[in-house]
Amino acid sequence: MENRWAETYPDPLDDCVQASRLLGAEPGLVLHGGGNTSVKATVKDITGEPVEVLYVKGSGWDLATIERPGFAPLRLERLRQLVQLEELPDSRMMNELRCALLDAKAPDPSVETLMHVLLPHTSVLHSHSDAVITLTNQREPLVKEVYGDKVIVVPYVMPGFKLARVAAEIFQEQLTDEIVGVVLMNHGLFTFGDTAKEAYDRHIQLVSAAEDRIGEHSSAAEPVVVDPLTIAKIRKEIGPMIVSRHTDPATMAFVNREDLADVATRGPATPDHIIRTKRIPLIGRDIDAFRRDYKAYFAANATEGLVMLDPEPRVILDPELGMLTIGKRAKDADIARDIYRHTIKIIENAERIGTYRALSEQDLFEVEYWELEQAKLKLAGAPAEFTGEVALVTGAASGIGKACVQALKAKGSSVIGLDLSETESTADYLGVRADVTDSQAIKQAIAQGVERFGGIDMVIPSAGVFPGNTPIAELDQRIWRRTLAVNTDAIADLFTQVHPFLKLAPNGGRVVVIASKNVPAPGPGAAAYSASKAAVTQLARVAALEWAADGIRVNTVHPDAVFDTGLWTQEVLEQRAAHYGMSVGDYKRRNLLKTEVTSAGVGRLVAEMCSATFGFTTGAQVPADGGNDRVV
Ligand code: ZN
Repeated sequence: MENRWAETYPDPLDDCVQASRLLGAEPGLVLHGGGNTSVKATVKDITGEPVEVLYVKGSGWDLATIERPGFAPLRLERLRQLVQLEELPDSRMMNELRCALLDAKAPDPSVETLMHVLLPHTSVLHSHSDAVITLTNQREPLVKEVYGDKVIVVPYVMPGFKLARVAAEIFQEQLTDEIVGVVLMNHGLFTFGDTAKEAYDRHIQLVSAAEDRIGEHSSAAEPVVVDPLTIAKIRKEIGPMIVSRHTDPATMAFVNREDLADVATRGPATPDHIIRTKRIPLIGRDIDAFRRDYKAYFAANATEGLVMLDPEPRVILDPELGMLTIGKRAKDADIARDIYRHTIKIIENAERIGTYRALSEQDLFEVEYWELEQAKLKLAGAPAEFTGEVALVTGAASGIGKACVQALKAKGSSVIGLDLSETESTADYLGVRADVTDSQAIKQAIAQGVERFGGIDMVIPSAGVFPGNTPIAELDQRIWRRTLAVNTDAIADLFTQVHPFLKLAPNGGRVVVIASKNVPAPGPGAAAYSASKAAVTQLARVAALEWAADGIRVNTVHPDAVFDTGLWTQEVLEQRAAHYGMSVGDYKRRNLLKTEVTSAGVGRLVAEMCSATFGFTTGAQVPADGGNDRVV
């Protein structure tokens, strides 16, 4: 591991920020929250009295991007009193830490704060280094062989007050000037020094020594192409959650190990992964067996009053599928993916130099059902309605399609967005460039979307074209056919392709077709458009009839005069308004309610029609036109 120290600042807190960011930039050191840092200083408080302060990383801040306000300033003297206590529940400890703050607005101090108090050095750095954890996850720990007497080894104890108690006793006997670091078994590494640079240099040296002992490693295996329905069927069993598939070479090589079922079920590399990955992954596809085992594990370890977490797997390993990671939101599935990729590396390295070993079931259970984590869950409240669900939207880059994407995401859905234009993917949005009239491209987009999120629960065909006004007497056949190809044929084809996925939607499939006011009230000059939207409305009605038995609801909205989309430039608006002898403002509101219909409003209606509010409704046509006397 490379030493990237740049410059030393006059203020030690700035040096601590620098060291934190350098550690945070290495995924092999800190992954999704593992690790924390501190610096001790003397400052003057508001009364002018000098106070010894510990600045320790606050929760909610990422080491990679932390800034000065991310450090919680605590009265060191008070903390030194706290570490003397024989016992202190972690929830009480957190309360005491908050009460020791010099700044009421500071973030919550790290739960590992007391470890930073026990180490007397000015600067203390802590990481969950993969390489160090690999050394500790051994039947015969290699820590002493690699580090000799330069480090203190602390046996595994759950982070929090108990760990501080155990560490305090060990430090009292063993902490001398020769010691440069502390290795926590199955957990990570602390280094320290008079300056952040000294602590950082030692951190890099110790991690590099572990990496050297483990040695280089590479693996390769080819991913297997699987029918996306196979993944959607697994997700159907699990319920409305996000299921992502991963087939990178290292993962494929791991899932094809002959001893997979043995090495992958010994437990996580470090206990704090358990919240994200559960204690063990599911090997193969028997979800029911995994649930039974989880319930048995809970029954064997739970104390009275504990409520069982959901028993669904978070990681599935299968020689053909590769790795599936599962989460309530796409972000959670991604965190499980990142953590398990590191776990794979740690297990493979540990097995190559010895035997991979994890902690006991009881130790792990204690972490999974930690009181602070339970309290957090209770506070979290009900998730957004579409959490764990997936919508496919066409025409997702602009206008009503884009508004639908936003409204669905606001309700917690992940979205597969298809469009001719490029759209940027995020954790809960997969942008796919595809022409809806290209059946093969749609097939590939669906496969890509299902590999990313696990299935399709909602479909919003919003891509459409509106050819310019043309009287029937002057119709151009190419334009007529193009209009029907995009507005009608493409949706019929999409319906055929998405039906098997909608049928597997855990909460029932839902479709909302974006048609037009022109269906009930056509206008002269819009023959192709009106005919295409009328045909797709009829298609939706037939789908409602055919798919009701599969639990799929199909409804249609008829928007009118949505002028805030790209189709309507100021120039076109002025022309149309002049044509009717109106101002642009009056032209936009020429409906019964005298209201302006917005794409955002149509998007919210569409999302609502996917919700349980419309749970009794299928085959309906809902106007979104401000009221039209030809429709009413
Ligand atoms: Zn830690």
